[in-house]
Amino acid sequence: MTRPGTLIGWLLCIVFSVSTFATELVSPSALEKSLSELNETLKSDFDLSLLPELRALRRDAQAVDALEIVAQSLLLEGQIRQQYGDYQQSLVLHNDALQLAIKRKDLALMAQSRLAIARLEMDLERYNYAQRSLDDVHQLITQLRNNAQKSPYVTQRLLLEHRLWQGYLYVLLGSYHQAVAALKTDDLVVTGAPELLDTLLLVRAWALLKLGRYQQAQPILNQVAQSRTLIRNQRMRLRFKLLQSMAWLQSGDFQQTLDTAMPALMETFATRFLEEQADLQFVMSNAYVQQGDYQQAHVYLKRYALTKDALNFQKRNNKLLQLESQYALATQKQQLSLLEKDNALQAQEIFRHQQILENTRLAQQRGALLLILALALLGFLYWRWQNKRYLSLLEEEVKQRTAELDERNRQLQALSYSDSLTGLHNRHYFFSEADKLLAQAHNASQSTIFCLIDIDYFKQINDGHGHAVGDQVLKQFAQLVKLELREQDVLIRWGGEEFLLIMPNTETPQAQQLIERIRHVVAQALFGSAPQPLMCTCSIGFAPYPLRLGNGQSLDWEQVLELADNCLYQAKHGGRDAWVGLNPPAQPLAMTLAQLQQNMEAFTVSSTQLAG
Ligand code: GH3
Ligand code: MG
Ligand code: MG
Repeated sequence: MTRPGTLIGWLLCIVFSVSTFATELVSPSALEKSLSELNETLKSDFDLSLLPELRALRRDAQAVDALEIVAQSLLLEGQIRQQYGDYQQSLVLHNDALQLAIKRKDLALMAQSRLAIARLEMDLERYNYAQRSLDDVHQLITQLRNNAQKSPYVTQRLLLEHRLWQGYLYVLLGSYHQAVAALKTDDLVVTGAPELLDTLLLVRAWALLKLGRYQQAQPILNQVAQSRTLIRNQRMRLRFKLLQSMAWLQSGDFQQTLDTAMPALMETFATRFLEEQADLQFVMSNAYVQQGDYQQAHVYLKRYALTKDALNFQKRNNKLLQLESQYALATQKQQLSLLEKDNALQAQEIFRHQQILENTRLAQQRGALLLILALALLGFLYWRWQNKRYLSLLEEEVKQRTAELDERNRQLQALSYSDSLTGLHNRHYFFSEADKLLAQAHNASQSTIFCLIDIDYFKQINDGHGHAVGDQVLKQFAQLVKLELREQDVLIRWGGEEFLLIMPNTETPQAQQLIERIRHVVAQALFGSAPQPLMCTCSIGFAPYPLRLGNGQSLDWEQVLELADNCLYQAKHGGRDAWVGLNPPAQPLAMTLAQLQQNMEAFTVSSTQLAG
């Protein structure tokens, strides 16, 4: 039987292991912690065995996109490689860190990377490059101060590091006064960076000792002697002892010098700190000289020379490596710039192509637009031409139709105004033309004679010879009278066998002659057709127009025609085959129309009178 408590314990165990497994994968804070642990380890010494761990950390940081940790790990690896003389790789790593910092616009990280590069350049004895990097750091720190992007702690720490390496550079360049001035700490508040502070103090002490100011250097050395840094960091310890022995030497305590330098020198054997070794040997040689032990002095001076040789050899090697790395960097840069140029050219080419495409497209669009416009214009012109043509055709047709219509109208009018049997004008013609004829008559100096002609006993012809012969006689009669007329005279079939003859510009005597001739010709002529020709006569009555009466009345044409009819009646009454015409005096007659009609005989002339 399992107790419930054990079961819960198991469950808890499973939950716990699952949760730890889950957090192990993605926790930037855990990564940061292990990074600072690594950093702590490195403070005591740079150990190549830490590299795999550092790389694993970087991979994890990359997996969770913790770029700052990636950059820090790059800088750390760079520093380790620098310690072991792998300058080429170190430079690459520091530059990678710098690129990351630039990408992230992280000013503090940029400053840190530049500081690392400055230290590398100093190791490579490229002091002007180192100075340039330090100047950059100075600028970045100023920006950081203004920006307040990072905490004041970070800025203060960067400032301290800048001073340390600037001072160190001055010492390397032999500018000890400047170094002493640069290596100040009293205006800085830096906590949690004892190793940095100690290093700075040691460099300051070094500069002072180079100036022979051992009294000023000693208190500094005393201060550092208390620090735990010396226990942890072998190189610092060796440096401290070297400086302490230099101070003893300058103060004249040669035994102390040797007592301090000797164990330190022993410690340098089997290490890579050749510089400290050589300096210790030189100090010891000097101390022996001061003690008068020239043999020992000679031994240490020789050892010093050998160590220096080894150091120079190492430095030469470093130089070679540096050249290689420079070469690699240069080719890399060249390739990069070639690539960039290529890219720029490609971009230019693409841009050019795009522009050509765009231009072609525009030209095509413009062409298409012009074509459309041209087609539209052509279409419009064609439409207008067709329209015009159609209109002119229509106009032509209308003209033709109008002409036809006019002709028909004219024909119709002619038909309606003419008598179908005789071909003479009919009564309608007179009514339509009366106004014109009478206006002319009114204005003319001479009169117009209204004359009515009636065939005698026509009924008997019809009755005796048939209606057709009657028609024939009517036609022949019309032709016969027409032959006797003047051009201006108008003959109208007034109705049945009665004709109206209008003679413009004619006075009564002239009319008498013409009418007499008509009467005579008709009376002499043979009508009908050959086997049974027949003879007939006509009676004529006429009156002049205009005709004025004494009361100022001017008779209208109907009244004048009535008077002519009155005259015709008289001619018939007088025995036919005769004419009677009204021949009024030149002065207007002082009577009314009725009075005139009652006394017609007094004012008429007739064929019988003339014959008598
Ligand atoms: P009068 O001497 O008094 O004029 O005697 P009339 O016979 O001529 O007179 P009336 O007026 O009595 O007769 C006229 C005749 O004319 C009557 C009619 O039949 C005939 N007539 C009228 N128009 C035509 C026609 O177009 N053709 C024929 N053949 N005869 C017609
Ligand atoms: Mg009649
Ligand atoms: Mg008659």
